[in-house]
Amino acid sequence: MDLLETLNTLTTKALSGQKPTREEALSVLRSGDDDLLDVVAAAFRVRRRYFAKRVKLNFLVNLKSGLCPEDCFYCSQRLSSGADILRYTWLKAAEVAGLARAGISGGARRVCLVASGRGPTDRDIDRVADVISAIKAEHPSVEVCACLGLLSEGQAARLRAAGADAYNHNLNTAGQRYADICTTHTYDDRVETVRRAQRAGLSPCSGIIAGLGERDEDLVEVALALRDLKPDSVPVNFLIPFEGTPLGGEWNLTPQHCLRILAMVRFVCPDAEVRLAGGREIHLGSLQPLALYLANSIFLGDYLTSAGQEGHQDLKMIAEAGFTVEGLEAVEPGALAGPEQVRLRHRGAGTDLPPNA
Ligand code: SF4
Repeated sequence: MDLLETLNTLTTKALSGQKPTREEALSVLRSGDDDLLDVVAAAFRVRRRYFAKRVKLNFLVNLKSGLCPEDCFYCSQRLSSGADILRYTWLKAAEVAGLARAGISGGARRVCLVASGRGPTDRDIDRVADVISAIKAEHPSVEVCACLGLLSEGQAARLRAAGADAYNHNLNTAGQRYADICTTHTYDDRVETVRRAQRAGLSPCSGIIAGLGERDEDLVEVALALRDLKPDSVPVNFLIPFEGTPLGGEWNLTPQHCLRILAMVRFVCPDAEVRLAGGREIHLGSLQPLALYLANSIFLGDYLTSAGQEGHQDLKMIAEAGFTVEGLEAVEPGALAGPEQVRLRHRGAGTDLPPNA
């Protein structure tokens, strides 16, 4: 079957809720750069069916940064990381509420509360519950997602009771190669946490990191595994190779391949909120707006430990590409170019400087 026929099959299947085969999904990743716009156009039909031209903005707050005892090879927050990141312990509820307010006034409709570490203690859950209650009291219609690592029995239910809407825990990569990117916990641990969140009534959010040295088959494998887990949202991260981490030299993504990965995820998880996440600026470069034809959700402003493009540039990009921000009527475009290398976040949470929102 030639690529156009396969793309037609993938589109038909995605629009009717059928699962693509491994080979069909793989053919998206194996297609050439000259076929890129055909791939994007086909996947856009799927994106448009489920999400029209809306883009949802999410805002990250890193509640606790760095000094994590786990050894995820891609992570700048592991204990042995030599990256010059901010390192701080739990922020106070009032500080977090202020940061969330800035993100929400910048257009975010979901606030993602993240903390470094293997998983929360029960005391940590109390702490985060206070933060969630403070945000929900001020912004009842804004979704709050927690991302605190591996959950023990009962913790997801406590987060739900505190008002959390969602829980994020990424599968990151294919199960058979998990030990290549982390030795302190397993893929199965991660799957179990997603299931715990789901069972407690939290909206499951689970995605991938591409660019970890995986094969195309591994990306298809993890996308199909995610489909089986039925997450409501699927963040697609592109590795930010922080100097001072084991994967600091892994620059092996091209903008075109990033787009193929997003398209493949869209075909495999057609009605999930596909979120363009960390690494979009440095890997997609000037092709970033094309990703909006595939993903229906992005992070506004900065990431956990690296700087994103300015929040107003995100809004400008969305408006110029002809998309609309969920919950915002009109956007005044700004006028700056995006960064071309990793920039560490030294503003917002953990500093006295205002966040990028
Ligand atoms: S558990 Fe989380 S914070 Fe810790 S090293 Fe892994 S990804 Fe980083």
